[in-house]
Amino acid sequence: MNADHHIDATRLISQLALDEKISLISGADFWHTASAGAVPAIMMTDGPHGLRRQAGPGDHLGIGASVPATCFPPAVALGSTFDPELVRRVAAAIGAEAVAQDVGVVLGPGINIKRSPLCGRNFEYFSEDPLVSGELGAAWVRGIQSVGVGASLKHFAAYNQEEDRMRASSDVDERPLREIYLRAFERVVRQAAPWTVMCSYNRINGVYASEDPWLLTSVLRDEWGFTGVVVSDWGAVGDRVKALLAGLDLEMPTSGGRSGADVRRAVEAGVVTEDVVDRSAARVAALASRAANEGTDPTAVDFEQHHALATEVAARSIVLLRNEGDVLPLSSGARLAVIGEFARTPRYQGAGSSRISPTRLDTALEAIRSYARDVVFRPGYSLDKDVDDAFSAQLRNAAVAAARDSDVVVLFLGLPGRDESEGFDRTTMDLPRAQLELVDAVAAASPRTVVVLSNGGVVALPFRDRVAGLMEGWLLGQGGGTATADVLFGKVNPSGRLAETIPLRVQDSPAFLNFPGEFGRVRYGEGLFVGYRWYDARLIEVAYPFGHGLSYTTFHYADANVSALDSGDLVVSIALSNTGAVSGREVVQAYAAPVASRMQRPERELVAFASVELAPGETRRIELPVLRQDLAYWDVRVGRWVVEGGPYRVEVGASSRDLRLSSTVEVRGDDPMVPLSPSSSMGEAMAHPVAGPMLRQAMARNGRTNDDSAESLFEDAEAIQRMTASIPLGRLGSMGAQLGDEELAHLIETANSKPLC
Ligand code: BGC
Repeated sequence: MNADHHIDATRLISQLALDEKISLISGADFWHTASAGAVPAIMMTDGPHGLRRQAGPGDHLGIGASVPATCFPPAVALGSTFDPELVRRVAAAIGAEAVAQDVGVVLGPGINIKRSPLCGRNFEYFSEDPLVSGELGAAWVRGIQSVGVGASLKHFAAYNQEEDRMRASSDVDERPLREIYLRAFERVVRQAAPWTVMCSYNRINGVYASEDPWLLTSVLRDEWGFTGVVVSDWGAVGDRVKALLAGLDLEMPTSGGRSGADVRRAVEAGVVTEDVVDRSAARVAALASRAANEGTDPTAVDFEQHHALATEVAARSIVLLRNEGDVLPLSSGARLAVIGEFARTPRYQGAGSSRISPTRLDTALEAIRSYARDVVFRPGYSLDKDVDDAFSAQLRNAAVAAARDSDVVVLFLGLPGRDESEGFDRTTMDLPRAQLELVDAVAAASPRTVVVLSNGGVVALPFRDRVAGLMEGWLLGQGGGTATADVLFGKVNPSGRLAETIPLRVQDSPAFLNFPGEFGRVRYGEGLFVGYRWYDARLIEVAYPFGHGLSYTTFHYADANVSALDSGDLVVSIALSNTGAVSGREVVQAYAAPVASRMQRPERELVAFASVELAPGETRRIELPVLRQDLAYWDVRVGRWVVEGGPYRVEVGASSRDLRLSSTVEVRGDDPMVPLSPSSSMGEAMAHPVAGPMLRQAMARNGRTNDDSAESLFEDAEAIQRMTASIPLGRLGSMGAQLGDEELAHLIETANSKPLC
């Protein structure tokens, strides 16, 4: 929000009575903010893969109706595009629909990290990786705000499960909190300045996000420079006064006047100063004025064009996991058996607050029929919950017979809508039993079986080596049916890549023993090791690794070069060639890690990626900028980001486990200059740029210890250093070292008087 809005808002607020200002900081109803004086009311609406504008009674669980809107692929699919530009276009289109419906803020993007495959809302999030989530989240915010509609970056923060979501405490250490869970939020706030940030329902280390001054003010505003409105998730406010003091500006939805009365009482009692109310009211006023004024060009929405965009993006989201013997692309002359209820009853979005009413809905079956003439359809299974085994067997047998009579089977499998939703988590990664039995029977009947998956969270794929082809179709929005056929028949060359690992079993996943916690607490015991960071550190075999995805063409990587700029950023460059016969898109991925580290660091972390289209035979030099900040770790000793100095290994490839090139680059380190104290260890003092040399001199001057035999016992100076490294400075005297109290105090004072870098 720029200064002009701030000045305007302050003026607007100065003309209001206390009660009017208080009214501004709570919702007027389910979806609207209040108006007061010259401050207009605005409407906020879900998001994030389309507009969920409710004309009638409001609800935040996706139960009631909403006006038709284009249903774009949800975040799980967008994540697989690894393409910020595509995400920006989607968000701008949603923004145009919002403007036409007089909606000022759309409640997205959701950028929470996929900590466990079982989280019921994984379909609403981009990735297990903070760089992907942050880059795509920033693109989404830029896209929607470019048409004058505000974004609401959510759910802030460490909201990674649905179980007990309104109470559970995410107990997470500072490093993973900063390096994994807050990192994407930091990126989006700094790079894209969302108009609003939505705080989450849960507690973090015991404190409700809605009442956490550290989260909502110290980190979000003071550190990251956020100037917009902090809005509560719907119903996330327990204590309005505490929340206000913590920095929560706007409570949504309306509390029916209860919160306003609480705030007034608190002002009268002097617990809250009027300034605090003014500050939040001014922020809400600025938001409302901005939203009411900027998004004022409701040129008629071209729903045809939006449907075409939804279809284009859906095709770009599909991940080809396996393609044995080039079973794909299909030829239109083939005799096809299309099996699986999802082919005619698509599952294209998730359940809960993001559920919207699409303007239309393509089915894969119809789209396949537009490519091929000889198509037989069999449902294979029922989506009804209560079908008996005999009926399942009947459906299966009919499907197997059709499979035998075909050249190729396209088998649609997936999770029924009731299995994954906002509000609860899954209890298993498995597909329903009837579908697992079906795929076994069909694959046995036809060696040319291609499975197409529809699922919002990853599923176990025990059959993957028994089928020729496997396509991860996620939830693809209203154009998904056409997009699926476009990829199956090669009109679109698949270019989606996994933004999350598909483990072999849920038992292998990082949070398995700590999900969903118990008695209101969930311990993030895996620390930094989320997603591929975990599987790589533990050398765990996976079904398909992070970043994986095949193409109908092949790419060759050559000639890696990594250079460090004066700014400390890196530039990774490679020569990429399309060595196949058709044009295609590759997602080039660069990972980095220090060659050796004093700390716990992941084996590799994604530091850059680019989606690049190449014609057959074309070679292009691809440059991937890597921000110095993305090499940093959070140093808990000094409470800030620090880049370790030394050589870094930079790997470039087509997935986290298909690394084609590797190179090393020397990175200049930050010196965190940790303040020394008598409890600092010898090792820490020796490594200190000021104290280290002083200490070595003092030791040489005073003689190392009283006991000269130490020298003979440990001839190796390095061994002596290692042996003494853990002795606190303050104990040196009692350990026989001749370093007087005064000398020690002087050393510590001199070391600490140097400015921190
Ligand atoms: C969800 C939010 C959503 C809000 C409003 C909540 O239940 O957690 O993501 O934006 O409802 O519908």
